[in-house]
Amino acid sequence: MIGSHLCDYLLARGHEVICLDNLVTGRLANLTASLAHPRFCFVQHDVILELPPFPRLDHVYHLASPASPPGYTRVPIETLRVNGEGTRRLLELTHRHGARMLYSSTSQTYGDPLEHPQSEEYRGNVSCTGPRSMYDEAKRYGEALTVAYVRHHGVDARVVRIFNTYGPRSDPEDGRLVVNLITQALRRRPMTVYGNGTQTRSLCYVTDLVDGLVRAMDAPGTKGEVINLGSPEEHTVLEFAQMLREMTGSDSELLFTEPAVGDDPHVRCPEIRKARALLGWEPQIGVREGFLRTIDYFRAELGVTPAPAVPHPASDGNRPGEPDPGPSTPRSSAPAPAGRRPAPGRPSPP
Ligand code: UDP
Repeated sequence: MIGSHLCDYLLARGHEVICLDNLVTGRLANLTASLAHPRFCFVQHDVILELPPFPRLDHVYHLASPASPPGYTRVPIETLRVNGEGTRRLLELTHRHGARMLYSSTSQTYGDPLEHPQSEEYRGNVSCTGPRSMYDEAKRYGEALTVAYVRHHGVDARVVRIFNTYGPRSDPEDGRLVVNLITQALRRRPMTVYGNGTQTRSLCYVTDLVDGLVRAMDAPGTKGEVINLGSPEEHTVLEFAQMLREMTGSDSELLFTEPAVGDDPHVRCPEIRKARALLGWEPQIGVREGFLRTIDYFRAELGVTPAPAVPHPASDGNRPGEPDPGPSTPRSSAPAPAGRRPAPGRPSPP
C-alpha cells in the first residue's frame, strides 16, 4: 500500500521507477495507475532471490516486508528472510550502483516501549522469541545490517522507522486497526477492539508518510541516520473505534476481544523532533481528514453506500437498551472513558 503511493509520488516528480514485489501481501491492483505510465516498470520478484539486471540506479527504497501483525505471523520465515537476506541483496545492489538506499524499519523495533514517546535513542523493550519476534527482530537485524554497510563500505543508506500508517489502497483483509474498524463498520458487523482498548497508537496518513520517505532519501545529512516517521497525535484504540463508528454512521457494536497477535504494545507515539529538524517534515493531514478519505476508499472498494448517521452512546460499546454482554469468549470488558488523551506512560494492562 505504502509502496504504491510512493511509486505515484516518484512518477509525478519525473523519476523512472522500477518496482519489485512478490505480492505476498501487496496487491497488483494498487498499481493500476502506475502500470499505465511510460516511466514505470513492474517486476514480480522476491528480493530474497538473486536480483534481475538493472539499468543504473540512483535510489533504492527497501519497503519489502509483510508489516501487519496477522501478515507477518502468517509468513514468519519469509519476514525474517526478506529483512535479512533481502536487505543484504539490496545493500549490495546499492553499493554496486553507487546509489542511495532507504531501509524502511518500524516502530516495532521499540517493542512494548518503556519510554514514551519513543525517540530514536530509545533501545526498545523487545522479546527475541515472542509472538512478534519474527518482525521486531528481523527489522532490528535489517537496521544493524544497514548501518554496518554504511560504516564498513561507506554505502549512502539511512533507516526510517515507520509508525502506524493507514490510507486508501489498504487490503480490506489486511487485519490492522483502521482497516478492520472501517470495513466492519461499513459492513455493519461488530467492530473488534482488542483488550480493553486503552492501548494507544498514533496514526499517520499515507501521503504524509510518503513525503517523509522521499525527504529522508533526498535530504542532505541523512546518511547513516535513523529517523522516526509517524504522527505524534496519540489516541486510545477505543477512541479511534468510536470516531470511526461515528464517521461511518454505522450502528455496529464494539466487540471487546483478545488481540489477534500477542505482545500488543501498550503505548506507541513517535518523537519526531529529528524528522522536523533534518527533513523539515511533519504530518499535514489530521486524523479526521485521513479517516474521511480512507472511509471513501473502502466504501468504493466494498461497494457500500453511505449510511444515514445514527446517534451513539458516548462512552460504551453497547447500544442503548442492550445489556452489558459480560465476560465471555470473545472477551468483553468495560472500556475506559472516551474522549480523554492518555497520560504519558503505560496504561494498566487489561
Ligand atoms: N486492534 C484492535 N482491533 C483490531 C485490530 C487492531 O483493537 O481489529 C488494535 C491492536 O490490538 C493494537 C492497535 O489496534 O493495539 C494497532 O494494531 P495494528 O494491528 O493496526 O498494528 P500494530 O500497531 O499492532 O502493529
